[in-house]
Amino acid sequence: MKKNDIRLFILGSGTCIPYERRGSSGYALKLPSSTVLLDCGNGTTWKLSKVGINYLEVDHIFLSHFHPDHTSDLIPFLFATRYSYRERRGKPLFIWGAKGFRSFFSALEKAYNGWIVPDCLNILEIEEGTLKLDDFTITARKTPHIESSLAYRIESEGKSLVYTGDTDFSESLIELAKDADVLIIECSSTDDLKVKGHLTPSEVVKIARESKAKRVVVSHLYPICDERNIIEKIKQELDVDVVVAEDLLEIRIPI
Ligand SMILES: [Zn+2]
Ligand SMILES: [Zn+2]
Repeated sequence: MKKNDIRLFILGSGTCIPYERRGSSGYALKLPSSTVLLDCGNGTTWKLSKVGINYLEVDHIFLSHFHPDHTSDLIPFLFATRYSYRERRGKPLFIWGAKGFRSFFSALEKAYNGWIVPDCLNILEIEEGTLKLDDFTITARKTPHIESSLAYRIESEGKSLVYTGDTDFSESLIELAKDADVLIIECSSTDDLKVKGHLTPSEVVKIARESKAKRVVVSHLYPICDERNIIEKIKQELDVDVVVAEDLLEIRIPI
């Protein structure tokens, strides 16, 4: 039986800034037999419908950290799951975040009076290390951004995808991204406007080069990144495929 490619959909390539070109962070991954979301920033639930993924198909959501531009669509996602009208979810939903996620979620649950708690819901905390789930493994590593921030490496069918989440430079990211087929890496500003806790184009180049990632998807782009065309600089310095993330872009990983 011929297997399908792994399909990555960029739901949001931007940040917290309202920007017509880029919504807040979110990525959907269609693996051979499961559907995974990486982050759930504002607008991502609606964007799932734009890329043809029924939100009720999602098996796992992994949160890179608790900032609103990465988590705020949990509310419409879960509200829609609980009140899904004629369609019903026939399977469990697992949402994963770093240590502290259970108390983060119970505050949301309280604020929303239980409306965001469907029967299928499992709230789980993930630590550094590797877990085997369904048809993939996931490895989490802490990143220098905020207390709850993690980067992830997902492996399935011999292919690997790494998502940095929001992060400053770290050697452990290079190790996590070693030989990855796809590296989704944040880049939030220009070299001369470095913001602590985020990456600049030079740091993206260093991580991409040293990890030997095969395809580099540059994302989490503030408007200034487009105004100053940071992608050109990154492309010039790397001799692998560099893709600028765009909302609704699909990337295929052949298996
Ligand atoms: Zn962010
Ligand atoms: Zn953040």
